Amino acid sequence: MTNEAAAHEPSLENLLHENRSFPPSAEFAAQANGTPDLYADARADRLAFWSRQATELVSWRKPFTEVLDWSQAPVARWFADGTLNACWNAVDRHVVAGHGDRVAIHFEGEPGDTRTLTYADLQREVSRAANALAALGVHTGDRVVIYLPMIPEAVIAMLACARLGAPHSLVFGGFSADALRSRIDDAGARLVITADGGYRRGAATALKPAVDDALAPRDGVESTVEHVLVVRRTGQETAMAEHRDVWWHEATEVADVQHEPVWVEAEHPLFILYTSGTTGKPKGILHTTGGYLTQAAYTHRYVFDLKPETDVYWCTADVGWVTGHTYVTYGPLVNGATQVMYEGTPDTPHQGRWWEIVEKYKVSILYTAPTAIRTCMKWGSEVPAKFDLSSLRVLGSVGEPINPEAWMWYRRVIGGDRCPVVDTWWQTETGAIMISPLPGVTHAKPGSAQVPLPGIVADVIDDEGKPVPDGGGGYLVLTEPWPAMLRGIWGDLERFKDTYWSRFPDIYFAGDGAKKDEDGDVWLLGRVDDVMNVSGHRLSTTEIESALVSHDAVAEAAVVGALDETTGQAVVAFVILRGEAAAALEATGGDQDAIVAQLRDHVGKQIGPIAKPKRILVVPELPKTRSGKIMRRLLRDVAENRAVGDATTLADASVMALISTGLNKPK
Ligand code: ATP
Ligand code: MG
Repeated sequence: MTNEAAAHEPSLENLLHENRSFPPSAEFAAQANGTPDLYADARADRLAFWSRQATELVSWRKPFTEVLDWSQAPVARWFADGTLNACWNAVDRHVVAGHGDRVAIHFEGEPGDTRTLTYADLQREVSRAANALAALGVHTGDRVVIYLPMIPEAVIAMLACARLGAPHSLVFGGFSADALRSRIDDAGARLVITADGGYRRGAATALKPAVDDALAPRDGVESTVEHVLVVRRTGQETAMAEHRDVWWHEATEVADVQHEPVWVEAEHPLFILYTSGTTGKPKGILHTTGGYLTQAAYTHRYVFDLKPETDVYWCTADVGWVTGHTYVTYGPLVNGATQVMYEGTPDTPHQGRWWEIVEKYKVSILYTAPTAIRTCMKWGSEVPAKFDLSSLRVLGSVGEPINPEAWMWYRRVIGGDRCPVVDTWWQTETGAIMISPLPGVTHAKPGSAQVPLPGIVADVIDDEGKPVPDGGGGYLVLTEPWPAMLRGIWGDLERFKDTYWSRFPDIYFAGDGAKKDEDGDVWLLGRVDDVMNVSGHRLSTTEIESALVSHDAVAEAAVVGALDETTGQAVVAFVILRGEAAAALEATGGDQDAIVAQLRDHVGKQIGPIAKPKRILVVPELPKTRSGKIMRRLLRDVAENRAVGDATTLADASVMALISTGLNKPK
């Protein structure tokens, strides 16, 4: 390579080229909430645009006069002199507007039990819960940890906290006692809301014992928690500590059904949420009220084309993930939507459970993660084909880059080739969707998040901080503050500055690699931490994984770079086969040579010889976080024969053993 070529060496290679494009149908575009005007409006005056969204979509007790105060950057203040209450916005105002009878939540328990909560029901329940919390000594500003399964009380508990101005911090039900304790300590929580247990994979699993364990003195140090409120979900035997533990139903039964919300300033903390921990130790991300609600409602309305009177919306995310905060609790409820909430796993009692739910409730908007879509691909198209999915009209994806083939499958098999698919890029830190097609406007490309939403300014830059040209790869950054942006890492301003604002001065660095295609559309390429350096080429994980998934035999793939004497790093791929291919492999006694050769060849043809994995390992499962993201750093440990690192946020702790045993199995 000449010096001149080196100077123009891309930050990340652009390997995969996609020519398919799906414009919205004329009928869809004609009725869509989002129009090209939205982009024009935001471009004409960005702050006026956000001011308009905040006024139209959110109700203020005291209207704001100032839109953005960026004088204390990187801590933003949005709509700072306004006051409001998040719970009032999500619940009471719909009742006041005459929509009390509208269904807010269709709850479907894993064992098949159901509950329907209207907005009026929700108002009564959140008021009772807020009174019960206050009676237990929770004041405005106190932190409450919520450790619950996916049951309506999770949403009610969040809203009750918001009603009091007490920031909540959700911890995924099923995280270990240690993970729970470290979050309780970090947040300095005063109260924990939990349940006796929940239903998963056909069985009642206990939750409360983990709370007891978490609250036991550690090295002689007591926790900050004074009370534990326990929802009865499974009815299993549950130890209750005297003076500390209180049953939810007993506390709420006696509580008044009226409660005056606490009106807070726009910048009052709404919640702290710890990131998924895909790349390392989770960070306590702080979100405040006014700006967050504005962007939650705005994105939910335009990205999903929500019509609150007629749509039935379903986001499959757990409330313990940011997606559950913004797109189960706040976005849909602030918009007055009717939604489905499902407690359990997609394959209990059968692999068609989700599609049965779509048929039953006539779900029209579905929002899920690539990992779920790939799992359904693995199970086969004949499973969803047994159900009537004709009510669907918009499909969303979030959490990881979606491989083009998974996108195509989603569109074709689930969406009947009729529903726009929106691939939404965002993070715990951004609070709400940032980059996504608009379903009535954008000509969608399989695998690309494409364009910053109106009001959002993003770019892809190189190592020197210069925007890359179309066709180039680099780092995804956000160059202007946005309403739902994090206001810091809880208790650690320095870590906040250091993590997000130091790589490029005054620019928010998201930690993700991305490229711009020939049209200037953005494609996410995976974590910068996972970028591989093979013989001087900087390769991202996503494109090689997508090439693997585009082979008929492959359902899921994870690629990592492992130390290599000759090339610096070598590409190592872990693949899960689809049903038929897995059976075929089994029939040959598990000899992987033939399929591995085919897959290497396939990657070579799809994107070029440089990307051909040096090793491909067929595995039964991949390590994932609770939110369904592949944890490549653990696979790197395996590929480099190291002890596996911090796995506390892993969804299923047995997976790593399964992978390692599989690898050591003699042929
Ligand atoms: P940690 O920061 O602790 O490692 P995390 O980044 O997995 O955890 P989240 O905030 O839940 O925690 O995930 C945000 C990340 O998920 C993004 O930075 C990006 O890598 C990935 N992501 C989310 N949506 C998309 C998408 N549509 N396309 C590509 N990547 C996505
Ligand atoms: Mg992150």
